[in-house]
Amino acid sequence: MAVSDHVDLPTFMEGVRKRNPHQPEFVQAVQEVAEDIYEFIEDKEEYHAQQILRRIAEPDRVVSFRVCWEDDNGNIRVQRGYRVQNNNAIGPYKGGIRFHPSVNESVLKFLAFEQTFKNALTGLPMGGGKGGSNFNPKGKSVREIMRFCQSFMTELYRHIGADVDVPAGDIGVGGREIGFMFGQYKRITNQFTGVLTGKGLEYGGSLIRPEATGYGAVYFLANMLATKGEDLVGKTAVISGSGNVATHAAEKIVQLGGKVLTLSDSGGFVHDPDGFTQDKIDWVKTHKTHRRGRIQDYVEAFPKATFHEGKTPWGVPCDVALPCATQNELLGEDARTLVANGCKALAEGANMPTDLEGVHVFKAARLLYAPGKASNAGGVAVSGLEMSQNSERRAWKEEELQQMLKDIMFGIHQSCLTYGDQGGGYVDYVKGANIAGFKKVADAMLAFGVV
Ligand code: NDP
Repeated sequence: MAVSDHVDLPTFMEGVRKRNPHQPEFVQAVQEVAEDIYEFIEDKEEYHAQQILRRIAEPDRVVSFRVCWEDDNGNIRVQRGYRVQNNNAIGPYKGGIRFHPSVNESVLKFLAFEQTFKNALTGLPMGGGKGGSNFNPKGKSVREIMRFCQSFMTELYRHIGADVDVPAGDIGVGGREIGFMFGQYKRITNQFTGVLTGKGLEYGGSLIRPEATGYGAVYFLANMLATKGEDLVGKTAVISGSGNVATHAAEKIVQLGGKVLTLSDSGGFVHDPDGFTQDKIDWVKTHKTHRRGRIQDYVEAFPKATFHEGKTPWGVPCDVALPCATQNELLGEDARTLVANGCKALAEGANMPTDLEGVHVFKAARLLYAPGKASNAGGVAVSGLEMSQNSERRAWKEEELQQMLKDIMFGIHQSCLTYGDQGGGYVDYVKGANIAGFKKVADAMLAFGVV
């Protein structure tokens, strides 16, 4: 008779650490999810017997490949490319492509693992994946970026497809890079399919995709505040990052009546005591995205602001906070500072920006705290809607998509309440998101048997 491998959480995590040496980000992401899932499956023998969590924490496959390209000076450059296909139990693999020097297997495995739960939470049929390269787009000419994207896709194309795996953008990959990669895919395969999302509107992209992650995070924040009878009007917000997610989160905060005090980049943060208006946010978008400039230049354009070199913005007192830059940018100490300064709510725009210690601080303080897999799911949700539009060969109107995004974020919030309500007015959104995402994927896996 088969005996179920019903190991306890520390033993399970010991195994994860052993099987994934030198992959701290991946181990951290699994630990955060396993803490909640272990409690949930305590009395559910089937999940144990079928080793469901162990299987979700083992990617279906990790593809690693060489990417050669030639720079403008004729030098041959060699980068490493990856695609991590974590789980396709509920739909084709789906998740962004990141170009950043910090990209390695651990980072992409953590992102693909998180993406699996996030995509399930949206209610759309999408599995979890993630990819990228240690290529650094900073300081590269447009033609160098084009050559790199083409070389990257020359290998990636054989692992993806509209019903197989549908990548999108992420850090360092915006509309321009998606265009270069889509062009190369089409050239190699001679097929025009919805194989990437985040495409330009002229060739199958969806309205509001660029705005969706930041806007969605703010909708989620507003949903959390509403459980306390509050809204964003007059609230001060501290935001990190100055890329796609951060600038659109800032824009939506301003639209809903809040005041944004900070934005940042890897060089430090800018504090504008007068608040970032739409004009100032537009300046940041143009400066950071189109001119590839530094956030510190903001203080020359708007002299009342101050620049804080090498610092993160978590020491600036605020009502709400949105970390929108990168993983592990908000540590335990920062979390304690935010709580001590009276921060009421925090929604993660980035993936895993808060370290485990910080997560525990927020939980202990009973903060309204949304993990990225719930609050930043708006981007992939609209990517899912882009896939639907591509399949139908039509384009929905902006108002329709705005409403769908709001409804999806509301639905994710409801799912978190279902599994995260701890009574006494406290909702553990981390637990709610982990369990709701896990249950959907796990139940599909049970239906497939041992595969
Ligand atoms: P962008 O490339 O547009 O912007 C990234 C921003 O983060 C830049 O301001 C960058 O500064 C800053 N940053 C990057 N690394 C660091 C670092 N080590 N320390 C401090 N700041 C840093 O990326 P996105 O806005 O698209 O992505 C931001 C986060 O949101 C990521 O975690 C991503 O995974 C997540 N996300 C994105 C989605 C999307 O739709 N784009 C969807 C869901 C999640 P600098 O210019 O100096 O590098």
